[in-house]
Amino acid sequence: MVITRFAPSPTGHLHVGNLRTALFNYLIAYKASGTFILRLDDTDPERSRPEFADSIQRDLEWLGLQWSRLERQSNRLGRYQEVAQHLRKNNQLYECFESQSELSLRRKTLRNMGKPPIYDRSALALTEAEKDNLRNKSPSYWRFKLDSKKIHWHDGIQGQVGVDTSSLSDPVLIRADGQFLYTIASVVDDLDMNISDVVRGSDHITNTAVQIQIMHALGNQCPFFAHHSLLTGPSGEPLAKRLGTLSIGDLRDEGVEPMALLSMLTFLGTGLKLQLCSSLEELASHFQITAFSAATVKFDKIDLVSLTARCIAMLPFEEVQDEICRLNVPASMAEQFWRTVRKNLNRRDEIGDWWSIIRDGVEPQVADEDQKFIKEAFELLPAPPYNDQTWSDWTNSVSVHSGRKGRQLFMPLRRALTGKSHGPEMNKLMPLMQKIIRQT
Ligand code: GLU
Repeated sequence: MVITRFAPSPTGHLHVGNLRTALFNYLIAYKASGTFILRLDDTDPERSRPEFADSIQRDLEWLGLQWSRLERQSNRLGRYQEVAQHLRKNNQLYECFESQSELSLRRKTLRNMGKPPIYDRSALALTEAEKDNLRNKSPSYWRFKLDSKKIHWHDGIQGQVGVDTSSLSDPVLIRADGQFLYTIASVVDDLDMNISDVVRGSDHITNTAVQIQIMHALGNQCPFFAHHSLLTGPSGEPLAKRLGTLSIGDLRDEGVEPMALLSMLTFLGTGLKLQLCSSLEELASHFQITAFSAATVKFDKIDLVSLTARCIAMLPFEEVQDEICRLNVPASMAEQFWRTVRKNLNRRDEIGDWWSIIRDGVEPQVADEDQKFIKEAFELLPAPPYNDQTWSDWTNSVSVHSGRKGRQLFMPLRRALTGKSHGPEMNKLMPLMQKIIRQT
């Protein structure tokens, strides 16, 4: 049974980087008719906020990445306590007393000596009496005792990975204030929830080695791991710097279509040619975790603009019918209206812009040198309603009258009627036009 999870900490909004993680996990479960769990890693009571938990869920729903189950780590603290107790009994979790400043001083000294700043395990040498004494002075925290060995796994994206855990400090699993840290909470959840596949960013590779050791210490099999590369900005700069402008909420507000974003992330970093998909099913049919390269990938928001326009142009009438109905477009012309404008929209809310042009007309946009031309052209234009011959009949007679042809003829007329230099084919637009504002 394939079970995946997306495990954001609700300490901020979702951004493109972690959406990639969500999407990969979602698609793995989708392809296998498995289960996709949304797990909120909220063991940090100070940084975790309900509004971020809500915004993560809102973003995933907007994208259509529906989870089968929601889990919160804050509901599972008792279980982490049980597992910690088990590790203590087996001497795999040990009590430490150093303060933060003491630890940082030790790290500094080691660095100055040219040595790696690894925790020296001095707490392991404490006697019971010494520990009793220290407990009275300061609260203790707990570290997992790593086996000094190399951990290997076959990674779905990185291939064969080996991490030498003797180069790592024993990880803190429980802080002095009693807070369980991600490293243990995640292991316990992944095991208890029978997670089959863990896909996350390559910044977690070292964590994975540690977590594999903890899983072994608990006598369990490990899930299949894949670590995707991190995204960078268009010139290779770390994406983190730009996260403010790359939150999913911002992209939504900018009019990006979910399928444009999801299609982009399904292909980005695979070397396959991007195909704009119109459903999760179609995305899943292209998705292959092993197709992703381990190298960092450039993400350029600008690419979403044209993809979004293409996405909108593909939408069948049924998908926008309600939106068009809300604009009070008469039912008899709604579908024709959609077919006429859909290839000329950069974002959905421009549907309303075109409808107001059609319903109300626009103040003619006329260049100084075209004033006379437009005035005379309008004299040759009857009042609406128009049909699909109107544009060619009108432009023919305007051409005869003015001697203008081609762009000289058509562009000023288009601008006079729509206020824009680009737009739908005018012969299709004319029959929809309800009102023309004539030049005064
Ligand atoms: N809460 C962790 C993060 O957001 C989860 C990592 C994981 O998938 O295990 O980085």
